[in-house]
Amino acid sequence: MVIVMQAGAADSEIETVIAAVEKAGFRPWVNPGVERKVIALLGAVDAEKAELVDHFSALPGVERVTLISEPYKLASRRTHPDSSQIQVGPASIGGKELAIIAGPCSVESKDQIFKAARAVKDAGANLLRGGAFKPRTSPYSFQGLGVSGLELLAEAGRMTGLPTVTEVLHPADLEAIAEHVDIIQIGARNMQNFRLLQEVGRVGKPVILKRNPGCRVQELLMASEYIMLEGNADVVLCERGITSFENATRYTLDLNAIPVIKRLSHLPVIADPSHAAGDWRYVAAIALGAVAAGADGVMVEVHPDPALALSDGPQSLRPDKFRRLMDSMTQVAIAVGRQVATPHEQL
Ligand code: PEP
Ligand code: MN
Repeated sequence: MVIVMQAGAADSEIETVIAAVEKAGFRPWVNPGVERKVIALLGAVDAEKAELVDHFSALPGVERVTLISEPYKLASRRTHPDSSQIQVGPASIGGKELAIIAGPCSVESKDQIFKAARAVKDAGANLLRGGAFKPRTSPYSFQGLGVSGLELLAEAGRMTGLPTVTEVLHPADLEAIAEHVDIIQIGARNMQNFRLLQEVGRVGKPVILKRNPGCRVQELLMASEYIMLEGNADVVLCERGITSFENATRYTLDLNAIPVIKRLSHLPVIADPSHAAGDWRYVAAIALGAVAAGADGVMVEVHPDPALALSDGPQSLRPDKFRRLMDSMTQVAIAVGRQVATPHEQL
């Protein structure tokens, strides 16, 4: 159940409603939306009764009370009818302008991350990615530079003015990640690592939550609920390909998921064509498809010299190819009523 307050409801009216919700035995969750406050009743799933609707509807400042039948509440568009927009420094995810997150799979050296950062910034990317703690299938593969990788990523972010994104694998690393990086990524493998989701939800930094290739859209939305329940509404969902019978590509980008999630949830949705394809030759086409389907942004792996990459080289774009993709994305964005930032000169 959600209680939608009238636009401009007084603080005292909101407080009265919160007190009434608590008195009725539910945990209130107040949406941080500015224009119209929404108060969600958590724990109300089995107890949504008509008399409660009447009771809350009659309180001053209440516009309407809506029952939410879906198991996800805070992520539901019913709780927050307007699409959420998440501000990260100069970048924004979920607005008219697409969020372009680019950079190498892993931070490998100062030279590599600086070259990558400069290249993606020059091409017009809004955010810089780079893994420092890598989830590798083999324990013998490069595992990331750890904290020194975070430091290099932060330095490259400062140099270019781009906010940074990195993945967390374990709660023990969260403090260092939060100290150096602007957005915390939960990788596909950890989408249902619920304790990790809760820990990340308490950090107070925006989160990119990647869909596990074996999980349904509803499971992705439920996972986002774990983060939001801890008080962090700044969650971005990422479609990065699901498992299918097809093995011509690494995974199959579920293009359908983009409009489906946009309908069900107010959270921004981005797509990661690099991990979906596993092959740089398909990355641009898949990225353009995702933009056309309504994605709020894309995450693309870009490496100054993919042949030398310590992880995911075969799917990484060279800077010149990324620049060409940016040009194409600009065209497709215009066709669907969106825009891509124009590249800025280096300061
Ligand atoms: C990554 O972003 O480098 C990554 C490991 O992605 P995923 O979790 O989607 O496999
Ligand atoms: Mn990768």
